[in-house]
Amino acid sequence: MSHTLLLEGVSKRYSGHVAVDDLSLAVPPGTIYGILGPNGAGKSTTLRMVMNIIIRDAGRITLLGADPEKDRSVLRRIGFLPEERGLYKKMSVLEVIVFFAQIKGVDAKTARREADGWLERMGLGDWRGAKVETLSKGMQQKVQFIATVIHKPELLILDEPQSGLDPVNQEVLRDTILQHRKDGKTVIFSTHNMDQAEQLCEHVCIIAQGRKVLDGRLRDVRRENIGNAYRVQFDAESPDVEAFMARFGAATREGDEWRLELPEGADTRALVTALNGLDAPLTRFEREQPSLHDIFVTRVAGAAQTRRQELAHV
Ligand code: ADP
Repeated sequence: MSHTLLLEGVSKRYSGHVAVDDLSLAVPPGTIYGILGPNGAGKSTTLRMVMNIIIRDAGRITLLGADPEKDRSVLRRIGFLPEERGLYKKMSVLEVIVFFAQIKGVDAKTARREADGWLERMGLGDWRGAKVETLSKGMQQKVQFIATVIHKPELLILDEPQSGLDPVNQEVLRDTILQHRKDGKTVIFSTHNMDQAEQLCEHVCIIAQGRKVLDGRLRDVRRENIGNAYRVQFDAESPDVEAFMARFGAATREGDEWRLELPEGADTRALVTALNGLDAPLTRFEREQPSLHDIFVTRVAGAAQTRRQELAHV
């Protein structure tokens, strides 16, 4: 199965500063793929190179089977939401959406019909005739999103799509991304918000300082970065449990559960037996799944340290 997007050793340098450094990644079709990283990591630069808005210095990009630098027609099959949003403010909401649709080859009649459907779904039905400049920022962002998807692209590339949206509109966007995925299409988006990524992505690529820190299926990334902490819960409060935990040492109370940090290679069976021997019934004993946020913090801090050490040796 060929990839929807393939980057091989892609780099971009701005006057001595490396924005993207030898980046390789592969986006399988029909997935939601998150490009994650702190501000300045190189996410926008990467997506702009994919869209051929800026030209890469090195490496290969294969987008829907074509090199976007050589075959610009492939870009019409994509819905791209840039980080810097910008609509023609003097046009009406409907006009601006129809304008973007026509650029992508949709006829005006179809575009109007589709636009009306989208405006209703996004709660903007009453605003179709209003000038863009009279809309709030969040509303303008929704209009821009409609303009991005109006031609039913097989691939959506969204640069920080959630930024500037209130929680309700973030939910609308989330549902739309999931709907795209349900329709068998691919969505690539960038974000620095790990919680959003965790809710949406099946695949992730974390970058920091232009370099890849890790990538893969979110499930696998979690498994590979699992720690040795366990969540333990009992059916009732009990001095017996309190005393055991106090003796145990690396136990912290979090709400009505305990978090136990075990040493590498600890005998969990013996521990469960001991916990079961306490006078309150044990209701939960579960290895803690690392959140993407935890993985991000650990791995990105690690990447920054490696970089500092490398620079110290130059
Ligand atoms: P992100 O999207 O992850 O926040 P960017 O791709 O926007 O990161 O930026 C990556 C790095 O490249 C940053 O250090 C940024 O300052 C730099 N950069 C981005 N665009 C330009 C530009 N046009 N000229 C010079 N430096 C740039």
